[in-house]
Amino acid sequence: ALVVGRRVRSRRKWKRVVGVLKEMEESCETTVGRLKQVVDAMAVEMHAGLASEGGSKLKMLLTFVDNLPSGSEKGIFYALDLGGTNFRVLRVELGGQRSDLDPDVEQQPIPEQLMTGRSEDLFDFIASSLYQFVEKNDSVQSPITKLLGFTFSFPVKQTSVSSGVLIKWTKGFAIRDMVEKEVAGALQQALTRKGLNMRVSVLVNDTVGTLALGHYHDADTVAAVIIGTGTNACYWERTDAIIKCQGLLTTSGGMVVNMEWGNFWSSHLPRTSYDIELDAESPNPNDQGFEKMISGMYLGDIVRRVILRMSEESDVFGPVSSRLYLPFTLRTPLMAAMHEDDSPELTQVARILKDVLDIPDIPLKARKLVVKICDVVTRRAARLAAAGIVGILKKIGRDGSGGITGGRSRSDIKMRRTAVAVEGSLYTQYTMFREYLHEALNEILGEDIARHVVVIVTEDGSGTGAALLAASHSSENVNNIQ
Ligand code: BGC
Ligand code: MG
Repeated sequence: ALVVGRRVRSRRKWKRVVGVLKEMEESCETTVGRLKQVVDAMAVEMHAGLASEGGSKLKMLLTFVDNLPSGSEKGIFYALDLGGTNFRVLRVELGGQRSDLDPDVEQQPIPEQLMTGRSEDLFDFIASSLYQFVEKNDSVQSPITKLLGFTFSFPVKQTSVSSGVLIKWTKGFAIRDMVEKEVAGALQQALTRKGLNMRVSVLVNDTVGTLALGHYHDADTVAAVIIGTGTNACYWERTDAIIKCQGLLTTSGGMVVNMEWGNFWSSHLPRTSYDIELDAESPNPNDQGFEKMISGMYLGDIVRRVILRMSEESDVFGPVSSRLYLPFTLRTPLMAAMHEDDSPELTQVARILKDVLDIPDIPLKARKLVVKICDVVTRRAARLAAAGIVGILKKIGRDGSGGITGGRSRSDIKMRRTAVAVEGSLYTQYTMFREYLHEALNEILGEDIARHVVVIVTEDGSGTGAALLAASHSSENVNNIQ
């Protein structure tokens, strides 16, 4: 009787956790139908954000980048890339012909206290690193002003291609005295304090740098997406479609628009109680809703929250580990490692649960459950990102639906080859994420159309692209080839 009682109890507790899983799976559902609603909502919000300032949660920011590198740029250019966990300094030599760029790159983590301290300290630190980098490669004393492309991966209200003010921080940065301040100016002042003869000649978002490098290599590139610590996209738009800025004229007739899609919101997004809690406890509640479902800063934390809930419901993970209460203990790369553990005994999963979450010795069945949670969270993220991409294609008439006239079938439509440049660790380092994203692109667009859409991974585009833009927007290299 004792044994039977134990079995019944065990069955009950499994029933409870499976119930939690089922509920979560249902609220994460991303059927093609739902994804298409997200596509439509994205396109609608893009229109709204372009129509008027504040017209949508999608800011649709002007970048003043009105030409993209063509390959003819010449000279030596620097770039500084700030925006995630690391910052990078780069130096690129351009020979006037399209070639495989081989920039010198150095990378450093940003000391955590600088991410939440005073802006002067952060910029002085960056200027010092840049100084040392220049010293290694060129003469710091040279009377010729070096040109620097500054990639700053946060929402900025640009006033020109080389200036703009920070709208708000994202991704855990919180330097209060920077908000609403001139970003390029703050860096320029630090460079001057350091005695470095260098001019910030373009200020760009990382997506814009990525688009620039993508376009340098492949002129069919019309949009760029970042899926890393944070997420965002930019694309090439006709100036006459940017209604909120009437009379905007560029020789090319277009301009790159920084969507800041991380802040996209729609009632069609499949939201769970875990997302609601994560948002409420984040430093920026009610902001970056799309980003919080998609990007690397958050995915691991959603998984942690689900494991915590299960752990509180039953003891399949043993006694509730206190580590489960600590936000961001389970980082996304480790979550990916658990998700992609293909050993029969799930030894990676066991190791990570033990080392990171202090959950030792759980049965295989429970480890499988953890893999399943990772799968649900990542699949939803990747599919939503795919819907976002198709939303852009739809807005610019590259989703194969435009111009359908009576009688013609989808496959009859002449679809132009369309390239989207992508960067960020989720896409590049996480195979399951990438596969789910492509699967969803095929499902939403249909294979006939999806064949014409190529996703190209650029390498270090956010930085190298800024150097290219410093070049293509410098007076010696003006060209408006688009
Ligand atoms: C920022 C964007 C950036 C993206 C990717 C987001 O949190 O708001 O400006 O492009 O992260 O780095
Ligand atoms: Mg980056």
